[in-house]
Amino acid sequence: MKLDSLPRFHLAEFPTPIQYLDGLTKKCKGPAIYMKRDDLTSLGMGGNKTRKLEFLIGEALYQEKNTLVTAGGIQSNHCRLTAAAASKAGLECHLVLNGTEPEIPNGNLLLDKIFGAKIHFCDRKNRDKRFFQVEDELALAGKKPYLIPVGGSNGIGSVGYVNAMLELDTQLNDMDVTPDAIVFASSSGGTQAGLALGAKISGFKGDILGISIDQIKSGSDPFPPVLTSIANATAERIGSDIRMTDSDFSLNCDYLGAGYAMPGDLEFNAIRDLSLHEGVLLGPVYTARAMGGLIDLIQKGYFTKDQKVLFWHTGGTPELFAWADQLQKKFR
Ligand SMILES: *Cc1c(COP(=O)(O)O)cnc(C)c1O
Repeated sequence: MKLDSLPRFHLAEFPTPIQYLDGLTKKCKGPAIYMKRDDLTSLGMGGNKTRKLEFLIGEALYQEKNTLVTAGGIQSNHCRLTAAAASKAGLECHLVLNGTEPEIPNGNLLLDKIFGAKIHFCDRKNRDKRFFQVEDELALAGKKPYLIPVGGSNGIGSVGYVNAMLELDTQLNDMDVTPDAIVFASSSGGTQAGLALGAKISGFKGDILGISIDQIKSGSDPFPPVLTSIANATAERIGSDIRMTDSDFSLNCDYLGAGYAMPGDLEFNAIRDLSLHEGVLLGPVYTARAMGGLIDLIQKGYFTKDQKVLFWHTGGTPELFAWADQLQKKFR
């Protein structure tokens, strides 16, 4: 494997900590719950995109590009971290964000601006078109754009989560803890593809259970093939012979609620549980939905008391400020 020889740009200190969540475990009266704190990656308020961006920016620099272009929703954590990473790497950053520009930016959008990103607002349906237009405009202006897909999810970015799984393996050995499952928020797929491939490489036997944030139910579900193709592109990139199939991925699609970035009681209750029992913050869009799903699964008896579950906190806490309106109604 050539994991160690791939171009990589240092963005944060690893390993991230693992904590036992005593208060939450007692409250849920189910399995022992641990948390891997990728919300604490030490760049621009943290999150899972940091690990992907180390390899994406490594590749951009290797190709001698000087301008990053990526896209996402107006509160995208991925876009905020791309902007922060671009600053650190000395690259220009352009973000194509679907949504209307608010009078006063908050949450991730405010941070995008503080990190100096150039923002191009558009409609969701025009986003792909706008993305390539921005590329053309930058090229015409003599810049060298490097395109990063939504969520940084491709065979380059996912290498970060293969690495993360190997990092986890070492930590778990040192702690002498073997989780029965790893649970996390899954959306554009790069995190899950990397973790599942990394688990095959490290020999981790537990379930790698993604809680879907915005994908439709399996059956008509186009998502497992996406995971498979990202994972196999990643395997090729690191020179591994492993090939994954759709059945290698477990994805729970029961917690989609009212849709993407539409938090409700499931998410708000999870935010309250973690803040009051652990002093840990979750983001309403991703991590609160995934944690809400985990708590619900525990309540339904999906995990037993003698099991261990590791929740992989993927970040997103700056989202909180963009939902101040709903949160203050819930928490006053
Ligand atoms: C992007 C994101 C995810 C999902 O990761 P994918 O690799 O896109 O599946 C989960 N949590 C947070 C906070 C994110 O920003």
